[in-house]
Amino acid sequence: MLNLSNNTNNKTHKIEPDYIILRKILRKALSGKRLDNDDLIILLEEQEEKAVEEIIFTADTLNKKINSDKVSYVVNRNINFTNICGLNCRFCGYKRTKNSKDAFLLDYDKIIEKISDGIESIGIDEICVTGGINPELKANPDYYFDLIKAVRNNFPKLHIHAFSPQEIYELSKATDKNYAQVIEKLVNCGVNSMPGTAAEILAEETRKKICPQKINTAEWTEIIKTAHILGVKTSATVLFGHIESSGDLAYHLNIIRRLQDETAGFTEFIALPFISPKTSLGKSISGNRVIGEKRVLKFYAILRLYLDNFKNIQTSWPKIGVSAALKSFDCGINDFGGTLMEENITKSAGGKFGEFLEEKEIINLIKQAGKIPVRRDTIYNYI
Ligand code: SF4
Repeated sequence: MLNLSNNTNNKTHKIEPDYIILRKILRKALSGKRLDNDDLIILLEEQEEKAVEEIIFTADTLNKKINSDKVSYVVNRNINFTNICGLNCRFCGYKRTKNSKDAFLLDYDKIIEKISDGIESIGIDEICVTGGINPELKANPDYYFDLIKAVRNNFPKLHIHAFSPQEIYELSKATDKNYAQVIEKLVNCGVNSMPGTAAEILAEETRKKICPQKINTAEWTEIIKTAHILGVKTSATVLFGHIESSGDLAYHLNIIRRLQDETAGFTEFIALPFISPKTSLGKSISGNRVIGEKRVLKFYAILRLYLDNFKNIQTSWPKIGVSAALKSFDCGINDFGGTLMEENITKSAGGKFGEFLEEKEIINLIKQAGKIPVRRDTIYNYI
């Protein structure tokens, strides 16, 4: 049942039965009124099965109002150009040190070859370019700019979705330029949009525990805001299902919703469940803990209810598997994500759900779930 013991400021909550409070929140969301922080905490803390079913049902109803039965997807390829990283995020199974036997830094020819392969084999519209924070590149920041130039020169029409706020921060330090100058230079080289990754959890205390060397919340927010002001769209993300509390998630989602109010620069929200098996954080919290499907689906539903300024909320098939991803279309989700072609990050953390789905498989899966598949580009124009 709902635990309202923390809501000491709200006397009404104390005398109302839990199900009445929940229904009021759900009605509020359905009628288009904005949920507040207390509402969000109540939804996040709710465990009772029937209540969770109501949350999911309401999210599904709301999603149908916004997106009807359409489920979009993008035909894309990930380009992870290096796995060498000088940071030590505790949830990461991807990073390697320079001397690891499977460490790599791709040269431009290899990157162009991978993109050509993606275009010829499946007709990709987008590449998503990110990598580890490779210490060697600090002395050679031109690697980043020249990489984008090389891709743009070879593929004038391809959408280049590149570099997380962490990478922008590192480039800013390495080039002695501010964030706006770095982003502008990347755009001039050919970048179209940016991933809103490296957000992890924006509640500072927990953030410091899971990724102590990463940019802090203020830096992440400033970089994203700068990109949006310059007209560069980004995604928004959260890493959940590790040591974060409901309060941490509420804090994170509030920052994201406020930023979207200010800039309208986020294209979508992507909630990434923590994949634990091969990570130090996973080993330290409870052996090889894997976040359960029910918890993921409930969180997706809450996102639909709380993020009233987001049209697009994406499932994460490499992390939760195709079967759970299909169920998520009845829980408020309207986007399947991409073909990916090469998904290294989840796999390295112990994910077991694959790294590539062909477009025709995605179309069939979406139809199987009773939905209408729609191919889109990175910024959600339907193709
Ligand atoms: S998450 Fe990224 S920045 Fe953090 S250790 Fe892994 S590769 Fe490096």
